[in-house]
Amino acid sequence: MSSRRTFAIISHPDAGKTTLTEKLLLQGGAIHLAGEVKARGQARRARSDWMKIEQQRGISVTSSVMTFERANPDGSTITFNLLDTPGHEDFSEDTYRTLTAVDSAIMVIDAAKGIEPQTRKLFEVCRLRSVPIITFINKVDREGRACFDLLDEVADVLALDVAPMSWPVGMGGLFQGALDLATGKISRPEGDSREFLGKVEDAGALPPEVAEELELAQAGYPEFDLEAYRGGDLTPVYFGSALKNFGVAALIEAIAAFAPPPRPQPADGGEISPDRDEVTGFVFKVQANMDPQHRDRIAFMRLVSGTFKRGMKLTPSGLGKPIAVHSPILFFAQDREIADSAEPGDIIGIPNHGTLRVGDTLSERNDVRFTGLPNFAPEILRRVALKDPTKTKQLRKALDDLSEEGVIQVFYPEIGSQWIVGVVGQLQLEVLISRLEAEYKVEAVLEGSPFDTARWLKGSDQALKDFADFNKMNLARDRDGDPVFMARSAWDVGYQQERNPDLTFSATKER
Ligand code: GDP
Repeated sequence: MSSRRTFAIISHPDAGKTTLTEKLLLQGGAIHLAGEVKARGQARRARSDWMKIEQQRGISVTSSVMTFERANPDGSTITFNLLDTPGHEDFSEDTYRTLTAVDSAIMVIDAAKGIEPQTRKLFEVCRLRSVPIITFINKVDREGRACFDLLDEVADVLALDVAPMSWPVGMGGLFQGALDLATGKISRPEGDSREFLGKVEDAGALPPEVAEELELAQAGYPEFDLEAYRGGDLTPVYFGSALKNFGVAALIEAIAAFAPPPRPQPADGGEISPDRDEVTGFVFKVQANMDPQHRDRIAFMRLVSGTFKRGMKLTPSGLGKPIAVHSPILFFAQDREIADSAEPGDIIGIPNHGTLRVGDTLSERNDVRFTGLPNFAPEILRRVALKDPTKTKQLRKALDDLSEEGVIQVFYPEIGSQWIVGVVGQLQLEVLISRLEAEYKVEAVLEGSPFDTARWLKGSDQALKDFADFNKMNLARDRDGDPVFMARSAWDVGYQQERNPDLTFSATKER
């Protein structure tokens, strides 16, 4: 079986994702952040403005790939690839797309807050793809809600079976440790900081109220079932504290033991299995260089099948002719930056000058097209106005580039010259303006647009033409030249769909 576990952490801001990530990496060995890999070879100061947004707002705009390893008792190793999803309140398409590249996820919940809006949204994305979830209820070193309350909320709100795997012995000031329900051992806090430093004891006699809780829990919740978990119907639940290091080792064990190895991926003409010999993969993210003087980018490719070797020739679906991948970046646990080889489930960073786009398939024989990396109908639409009208050409180039990268979507109306950008989260707009200035020397402002959302149109040429005759004002083309209906409201979409049964109005576009 494959030794790769490729996963992401989903959570609402402040639940403790960053803290947990650090602890996972510390326990697991060496650390590589995508940004750091690049920054080491070049001057660290050479960071463009959009990275500054990140610093100012204390959020991470870019996704990174982190890899760590753990030795098995038999001497083999398991490699964990942790893909970071941007952790801010705004939703960006990056987040969705990153989730298309993982095989499982850890859902972090704050014990005092329970399920919060962002947790839920991200969970829904996972559910769409049947991504199995391990739940970590964090911050039990602080006063939180009752365990049953939290477990029932996960079960009810997410319509999932929950199987408690550990139990906090007291919470907050009364916290005396985390009980592993399978082994009956308790991890104990030590020292002034009340951290877990490795002290594990047999449970012995539990406080009566905890013993009672446990009896109720065992009667009330199903036992862990691997198949139900892998099918996305059940989530094992761990209580812990990322800050104080409780439950972190248990999570690593759980991913190693339960989380699925690399899964087959949906493609035109059927799924591609990780066992297939030829190398295939898809680009789920493109990150611009930190240095605005250099236009090169890194495309993040998830390897789906085959063994990738440095120097290999792969054909991107968007290009049609092969490119040689000479200096791939592999985010290895060991101090090895340039990849010699990579396995299904691994992520490779491929430096390029804009040839690779989000959603591209790369393959040895150019005979595979992965599906399932959608564009999402934008929820925010803005008109782009130039401060200097002579820069139209530069603006068009920039909008095309940035939409290829997946930073924004762009719509060119059939009538009029006012280009419209669409995003899923507000933050993408800030990134757009700052990158237009830093990289393209284009000063632009964003103005309100009469449109509220957009739908990709599909239908026969005749049906499209009939529709266009009446709705030219509301028609646009996207970056690929595909027709889009620009809608004033959700009601507008429903109305037009009803009047035009021969057309489909799609909220996503597969690339
Ligand atoms: P993120 O926004 O989800 O990445 O959350 P962070 O990891 O940045 O954590 C948010 C805040 O919660 C920080 O102040 C952390 O120190 C704190 N925090 C994280 N985990 C724990 C925990 O287990 N116990 C307590 N008491 N605080 C925690």
